[in-house]
Amino acid sequence: MIYWVLFLLARSVEFLLIASEEMSEMKSQVSLLRCKDYRLEDVHEVVKRSFDNLGGLGTFAKSGQRVLLNPNLLSAKGPERAITTHPTIVIAVARQLQELGCEVFIGDSPGGATQGVKRVWNNTQMSDAATTVGATLINFETSGVYDKSVNGNLYRLSKPLFDFDLVISLPKLKTHVLTLMTGAVKNNFGAVPGVRKAEYHKNFPKANDFSAVLVDIFSVVKPALYLMDAILSMEGDGPSSGEPKTLGLILASTDGVAMDAVAAGIMGFKPGQIPTTTIASERGLGTGDLDQIEIIGERLSEVKPKDFKTPSNKFWKLTPRFIIRLIEPYFWIRPAINQELCTNCNTCVENCPMNTISADSEIPTFDYEKCINCLCCHELCPEGAVFLEKSWLARRIGR
Ligand code: SF4
Ligand code: SF4
Repeated sequence: MIYWVLFLLARSVEFLLIASEEMSEMKSQVSLLRCKDYRLEDVHEVVKRSFDNLGGLGTFAKSGQRVLLNPNLLSAKGPERAITTHPTIVIAVARQLQELGCEVFIGDSPGGATQGVKRVWNNTQMSDAATTVGATLINFETSGVYDKSVNGNLYRLSKPLFDFDLVISLPKLKTHVLTLMTGAVKNNFGAVPGVRKAEYHKNFPKANDFSAVLVDIFSVVKPALYLMDAILSMEGDGPSSGEPKTLGLILASTDGVAMDAVAAGIMGFKPGQIPTTTIASERGLGTGDLDQIEIIGERLSEVKPKDFKTPSNKFWKLTPRFIIRLIEPYFWIRPAINQELCTNCNTCVENCPMNTISADSEIPTFDYEKCINCLCCHELCPEGAVFLEKSWLARRIGR
């Protein structure tokens, strides 16, 4: 009898050891494929192969389901500016869903929604994309919100992201002057309708705290699938005032954190430099560890460009705050306006969370005493007129 008890005990321990070994060997998968331009046939084929690398779109989408596509629609600019997800990506994903018998919807909350969502849909060519495939555009600003509590913070998030059978996030690969990059995790900030986004910048002005907010939102929105448009990306001072950069890539994954880790590697960031990836990894929402990611398709080292420009304030962002405070009088970076480009549209004035931009003079002016350096004005200026003004020292050691 004792013999059998010991035997069963030993087999149980053996079973548990094997299971835990297998679990630790399970890696997040990220599909990484080349797609040189936005020719619809090519995009369609690469999008299909991307989904096939993850088991096929049919693994996630079933006939009769209502599926919401969530592209990055930051501002009312044409796709050639690389600020928003390209409409061809949306068309390709929509058609493949329709082939499976799904009904397709498209929605996102733009950054500066003060000037109208329809203008954003038209200028980003999302209206054309919706017409082409017979999809319905959803206005997140008027769809109502659900209250979601995460880590003691209350988030009021657009209902459609929770009401559809399936959500597929379609982020754009770009740099970002506040969070260094924007990809899968940051794309879910589109769940916050309209100017409410500014409240989070006001309440969480430090990049790390704001990144934790992004991860909070990411943890509840939970799209089932991510497909990233990295054919034309943005380098430099993104997410709206950088320069378009052709990478010719499409990424796909069910793990948005892993996808961002791979995207960050392509842009030339070192592991651990992107706060959203680090925080989300620590919370077990995905993996940011490249050793734990199986990249299917191209090798990261082979697609990584030699000359990708990261944000010009990267050094400032990555330097510990106590050091910055010590050298602050000599080392500062702040928003300023290029008069030649400013059209006096007042988007920056309306979206500044601290009401520190005044519209009283010919062009807006800043009260730097109240500025929290959230760089919303830089992000949302539709003309790229807000630039990062730097002290002498910041210009010399800033990159
Ligand atoms: S700086 Fe940009 S956002 Fe502000 S008023 Fe000028 S054009 Fe508009
Ligand atoms: S001026 Fe610009 S950077 Fe400063 S608080 Fe306002 S939006 Fe943020």
